[in-house]
Amino acid sequence: MPRDASAVILLNQDLSKVLWAQRNPKIPFLGGFHAFPGGKTDESDTQITVKNCIEKDLEKFIVSAVRELFEEVGVLIVRNGEKLTKGQRASLHDDLISGRNSFAEILADWGLWIDARDFFYTGHWTTPQFSPVRFKTRFFMAVCPPKQTPYAAITEMQNIEFIAPNDALKRWENSEVLISPPVLISLQELAEFSPQSHKDAKKGEEDGSAALRLCVEKLLEKSQKYDGNIDYIELNPRLICFPLRTETLPPATHTNCFIAGRREFVVIDAASKDESELAKLFELVDSFIEKGFSCRGIIVSHLHRDHFGGERVLQNHLRAKFGLEVPVAAHKITAESLREKVEFQRFIEADEIIRLKDEAGAEFEIKALHTPGHARGHLAFYDEERGFLLSSDNVVGAGTVVIAPPEGDMTDYLDSLERMKNLPNLRHLCGSHGAAVYDARGKIEEYIAHRLEREKQVLAALANGAKTPEEITGIVYQNLKPELFPLAVKSVEAHLAKIERDSRSTAA
Ligand SMILES: [Zn+2]
Repeated sequence: MPRDASAVILLNQDLSKVLWAQRNPKIPFLGGFHAFPGGKTDESDTQITVKNCIEKDLEKFIVSAVRELFEEVGVLIVRNGEKLTKGQRASLHDDLISGRNSFAEILADWGLWIDARDFFYTGHWTTPQFSPVRFKTRFFMAVCPPKQTPYAAITEMQNIEFIAPNDALKRWENSEVLISPPVLISLQELAEFSPQSHKDAKKGEEDGSAALRLCVEKLLEKSQKYDGNIDYIELNPRLICFPLRTETLPPATHTNCFIAGRREFVVIDAASKDESELAKLFELVDSFIEKGFSCRGIIVSHLHRDHFGGERVLQNHLRAKFGLEVPVAAHKITAESLREKVEFQRFIEADEIIRLKDEAGAEFEIKALHTPGHARGHLAFYDEERGFLLSSDNVVGAGTVVIAPPEGDMTDYLDSLERMKNLPNLRHLCGSHGAAVYDARGKIEEYIAHRLEREKQVLAALANGAKTPEEITGIVYQNLKPELFPLAVKSVEAHLAKIERDSRSTAA
């Protein structure tokens, strides 16, 4: 069950800019993403009454919105709050964060109250099912009170700024930032109904607030239309991540299917075997075809069962509905391994350049990287211009990567990680499971360090007399769930093979 939360779309005084901040990249949930201030609803939020609140269901969420905004960025939207000095607000903030006083006590002690008329509800959005942590977040639009300047009041937030919605969208388009779908939708609506454009037309303040009301209505309509559920994530305008439920390794439940390109696009890992899951993907693919866009290929990144299964169904669907012949492609090694299960029409070579087109028709390239280690025929894909790596199963946002011989090879895997780490212009990555990762290089370095640390532990266990992979696993992997033991043994075998190879090459 998703947990309740609130977020605030905070506008500056002249309504031309919106507040966003970057979440600390170290936070497990959407670390490094740019987001609006907000957070979980607290039990204590129900103890505070909101004046003029007509929709009683929203009352506690307005309270969480006000509290979270104050906690995270130091902005306090309450009535009677104008009498507080900057210093007093800072001291109240300290009381709240340190737990000296509850939010209810602070409001009561200082004669402050929350008024629902200061908040415009723009709807709710729920984190997609693929995420291990999920929130049902209520979004409220509000205007920053005069003489209050937001600041990063907690370590979870950084790079806080008021930004024009169009500028924020440009940064997303260029892959300078990562944002979640509700933030993207909000920015797109804000950009369209920018009160600034009304002001530029010298129509005055009145039209500014009218534009804002229209924007709120549009956002609410969108949230209601989708009931707050979004099936896919636009990583940037030419890269979509579409998580599909698959038979994958827990704790992951989904495999990310990717649509790279737009006017000309490829579909990578249409992996689900579930019809209803595939139907959601097809709806999006169909909408592209109906716009006259063309599907250039259906790609399988590697041989594992959670990466193929829907490609044939998609191929047949495009043939039956649109009369299209779209080839299914993979690295030759993968095609060879899957020859009894999947029919391939094309092989993808190492370092092959796949030329695609974005929505405006501009050409761009993604490079297919042959990156063995997790699987011999493993492909990753790189959009160098945007610095975005699709790392498939080599690096993932959720779960662990299994290196199981004979398909898995630790030496190859570490080589592949090194190669990915050194890609020019590398910024973000998205693997086959979990969310996108903001600091791609940092994440890959973490992976390399983790494997090398494990290797040291295996060497130490050997030095202490452990003989078999099972014995070593027992020593190296503490507190392992019994069902994961066989996989851990495989991983130890991969380490042992690398250690042996390293010692042979040193001896030579
Ligand atoms: Zn895999």
